[in-house]
Amino acid sequence: MTSQKLVSVVAALGLLASLFVDAATPYDLVINNGRVIDPESQLDAVRSLGIREGKIMMISDEPLKAERSIDATGLIVSPGFINLHSHSVAELGYRLELLDGVTTALELEAGGFPIARFGHQLGNAPLTHFGASVGHAWIRMQVVDPEALSELARSGRLDMSGPTFTQPANPEELAQIRALIEQELVAGGLGIGLLLDYMTRAVTEAERDMIFSVAARYGVPVFVHVRRGVDGDPAGLDEVIAVAERVGPYLPLECECDEWCGSLA
Ligand SMILES: [Zn+2]
Repeated sequence: MTSQKLVSVVAALGLLASLFVDAATPYDLVINNGRVIDPESQLDAVRSLGIREGKIMMISDEPLKAERSIDATGLIVSPGFINLHSHSVAELGYRLELLDGVTTALELEAGGFPIARFGHQLGNAPLTHFGASVGHAWIRMQVVDPEALSELARSGRLDMSGPTFTQPANPEELAQIRALIEQELVAGGLGIGLLLDYMTRAVTEAERDMIFSVAARYGVPVFVHVRRGVDGDPAGLDEVIAVAERVGPYLPLECECDEWCGSLA
């Protein structure tokens, strides 16, 4: 056998072997050599993943093979993050969230209104899962200063000097705010977003307690930007915990208090 023929035979065998491996590969996609971090199983190690039809079928110490393969050397492979505190209201914002590993972006602090229209800005192919709480502030604006809401929708600029953020509501307005919050919870809001700190003069104890009692009635969380004090002062946090204890038998609570409460948060 000439050396020319020997090379051909070896090449043919190599081709055969690779066809055999490809045919036997049970994965559509493999992600090789990434640092795989899975909070549920506590796995944190360099591994390779074999994926078929969108499901992880294999976690291996050794690199795997498939027609599509991603080399994740030096990268972290983990479940998508859920951002509870996102204000990415445009497609670009969601693209940046995705680059940070966020696959579910939720607007829970400021919330949305009307909830049925939330996400329309993302078009027909949103990049991430998305959702919003019922935005108390925008409902309040609709009730006490509807022109400001139109202006906000038109310009995208928020003016906090108007009655929405500075003036207490009368009983009739309170009833309207309550009805709209309930309507929007039924429409799919993921709880109630409350910018308490930004409207600290406007929201009376009656309005605050009404919001918490509606949340308790519907079994949903209130997402509060608590009133601020000096750094480290827990008074704003204590306030909402006390209301939650008094008003609701079941009231999960998420506080936007990282800036103010520091390590207490
Ligand atoms: Zn925020």
